[in-house]
Amino acid sequence: MKCANHPESDAVGTCVDCGKGLCSECLNQYEFPICDSCNSVRADGEKKELTKNIALTVLFFAIGFYFANSSAGSFQLVGGIVIGYLFAGIPWGWSFLNKITPSIFLFLPLIGWVIYFFIKGILSFFIGFIALPIKLFQIYRDSQRLKGVSQSVNIG
Ligand SMILES: [Zn+2]
Ligand SMILES: [Zn+2]
Repeated sequence: MKCANHPESDAVGTCVDCGKGLCSECLNQYEFPICDSCNSVRADGEKKELTKNIALTVLFFAIGFYFANSSAGSFQLVGGIVIGYLFAGIPWGWSFLNKITPSIFLFLPLIGWVIYFFIKGILSFFIGFIALPIKLFQIYRDSQRLKGVSQSVNIG
């Protein structure tokens, strides 16, 4: 098999997504063996996911901020930020739990679902408290990396 980008070079590996041949130069272009087109498809997907998660974080922060202020009856800047922060972690805790929750829960009766969502909501709250700063750091790092990808695609 020959490299998909360089017909004159022999392939030494294949793209993990589409199986196209890659030469040693193309193989080491990204963190793992992947061709240019599959990499930009993945980058697009990651960007959409990232945008969705950032939007959710902002939305939950706003809900928490509003909740703290309306229950206090007066403007609470620090309290609003603290409660907003706690709320903003919920989507991250939730998506973390989605990854580790076995699909057996899908067969629960209705009351099981209510309890399941209640427990999951509470756990999301605590996990999010820890996960949010980690995730914000990852978002920053990923956005730098994705920026690098789109630049290299434009140049190439
Ligand atoms: Zn590919
Ligand atoms: Zn190549």
